Amino acid sequence: MSRPAWRASIAGLMTESELMRLALEEAAGALEDGNEPYGAVIVRDGETLTGRNECVTTHDPTAHSEVMAIRHAAAQWGTRDLSGASMYTSFEPCPMCCGAIMQSGIRTVVIGASRSDTALGEYTVEKLLDLTGQLSGFTIRRDVLADEAQAFYAGVSAS
Ligand SMILES: [Zn+2]
Repeated sequence: MSRPAWRASIAGLMTESELMRLALEEAAGALEDGNEPYGAVIVRDGETLTGRNECVTTHDPTAHSEVMAIRHAAAQWGTRDLSGASMYTSFEPCPMCCGAIMQSGIRTVVIGASRSDTALGEYTVEKLLDLTGQLSGFTIRRDVLADEAQAFYAGVSAS
């Protein structure tokens, strides 16, 4: 029996650290699946939906963890409007995912590891939101398990 494509559960009293740890578990799971090591969790009213990178295994260059979490939450909740939800993501969202977050109505994003590569030049989530006049409507945080997330990616790139 194959595992479910994604997890939906009642988070109840999950702490912010637990939500970020769940995103990191999804990232590790993505790597085990043969994909890139990225994971995301969307939470609203105590209910969580997860997403993990599926680009390789589904031949879908848009199957980033944040997009997958948005798809799963929208399907689970039967709406494209995810206003009021928060996203916990293992790694700083790319420009595509930042755009998807903007479209989803999610306005709180908690980032684990921050981008330190130069593949996207000067890009940051905050700069894209500022460029599009959206920054003031968002809460972007990088203060939940940031060290643990950075260590995870240091370990992944070293192995
Ligand atoms: Zn992305």
